[in-house]
Amino acid sequence: MKKMLNFVAAFLLILHCSAIVAADSHSERIRFIYFNDFHSQNLPLKQDEVASSSPLVGGAATLAAYIDLFKQNFDSHVFVIDAGDDYQGSPICEITKGFSQVKILNVIMPDIMTIGNHEFDYGRDGINILIENAKFPIVTTNILDKIRETYVGEKHLIRKFGNIRIGFIGLISNSMPKLTQEENLEGYTFLNTHLAARATIEEIRDQVDLIVVVSHCGDVADISLARKVEDIDIIIGGHSHKTLFKPLIKNNTIICQAGYKGKYVGILDILVDVESKKITKYQTWLEDTFVDNVQPNPLVKHIVDSLENSIGDKFTTVIGHLETPWVRGRREESNIGNWIADAIREYEGTDVSIQNRNGIRKDQAGGDIAVKDIWEIMPFANKLVSFELTGSEIKAMLEKNVAAGTDFMLFSGLRYEWNTRAKPGERIQNISISGRPLQVNTSYTICTNDYLVNPNKFSDAFGLSRAGRTFEYSEQTIREILVEKVKAEKTIQSTTDGRIKIIR
Ligand SMILES: [Zn+2]
Repeated sequence: MKKMLNFVAAFLLILHCSAIVAADSHSERIRFIYFNDFHSQNLPLKQDEVASSSPLVGGAATLAAYIDLFKQNFDSHVFVIDAGDDYQGSPICEITKGFSQVKILNVIMPDIMTIGNHEFDYGRDGINILIENAKFPIVTTNILDKIRETYVGEKHLIRKFGNIRIGFIGLISNSMPKLTQEENLEGYTFLNTHLAARATIEEIRDQVDLIVVVSHCGDVADISLARKVEDIDIIIGGHSHKTLFKPLIKNNTIICQAGYKGKYVGILDILVDVESKKITKYQTWLEDTFVDNVQPNPLVKHIVDSLENSIGDKFTTVIGHLETPWVRGRREESNIGNWIADAIREYEGTDVSIQNRNGIRKDQAGGDIAVKDIWEIMPFANKLVSFELTGSEIKAMLEKNVAAGTDFMLFSGLRYEWNTRAKPGERIQNISISGRPLQVNTSYTICTNDYLVNPNKFSDAFGLSRAGRTFEYSEQTIREILVEKVKAEKTIQSTTDGRIKIIR
């Protein structure tokens, strides 16, 4: 029966694809298959992470199977694109400093990959593991290695698809210095995306008919790139984890992105006129990578299984039970944010603790909690660090925090009201610390993760100068503290308690 289902599913996928713009002798048909921000999600996950009945999607072997299928059912040129951030998300990736992902990618064999910010999370070791072992082209048009005096990957890639030549460039976000620990970036230089793209397009313009940018910059930056840099036909993006069911079209550039963690695979079919060298038609969609609809790629499955077996049951051991699902929220307090902030403040004994929203990487369904879950919620090996802020600095920090576009901070020990109707600078009211009103001239002790206080990040995170401050670093990683907290509590019932009151 299972075989039959697979057959039916494959048949439906083929039907879906046959709707594609028909070929003729004046055109080339090219299919791009793309994914991004896989984040070492080597095992399948629920499509909706907290819904108990949500279907399983993804996992490396399933993603590989969908890529195989979409290659097989297209009878013209196919090109597979990985837009970066394969690293960071699961224990095996951190233990192997990314080698687990390179092994898997060497079977999937993308035709191009660009490097994402999280590929830098294990410093030069992690980058070297990727560069030295990858059997596929890596293109990094705006990342220079000062030590090797070259681009980290290739500067660009030119491929022929019948009568059409396409130039590929790869870009990483201009925010790069703020996106990982400073020491991870030693010896690397990041060039401005617009300048690097313009210069490289200029350089290869005469050798190619179309330009495709593989971008790890996020959809907002991709829109600006499409507007400000001429001649880009397609941007296959990543970084912002956007599930673009329909592409964005800006300045005639087609911008795509396929969510994150392999929940979807993206398909973009184009028809290119061989005379005018222009894209005359295109069709794009995201395919849900439902586990039940395909047979996993056996080679990838074998690698994933042996990698998981190699770390034994240390990570699968159940350490506690979650009563209410942990849901992260966006720009508001959340039960998981409160629980983490409470855990680190309790450990460090400071007046206040801070956890950034974007540092919490998954929601958690109610039920058993394994060590692995805590590692997936908090994949970064961030350490706890403490320092001091005055009352007036805390007020300034909170005003900055509620401005649009920040990585929203979650607190323990601190309560405040956010009046969204008030003017900037007057939005934060009724701040209290340890139950008493904030005193502007008093110094308060703060603990948080070492990522937020790193020299490239501090002023961006807190809206304050870092100069002259002293920081005390703990040896303990935050996730070790969280694992111990789950073990101690056993049954966890975490709630929101109005510590951030939003007045709309
Ligand atoms: Zn990223």
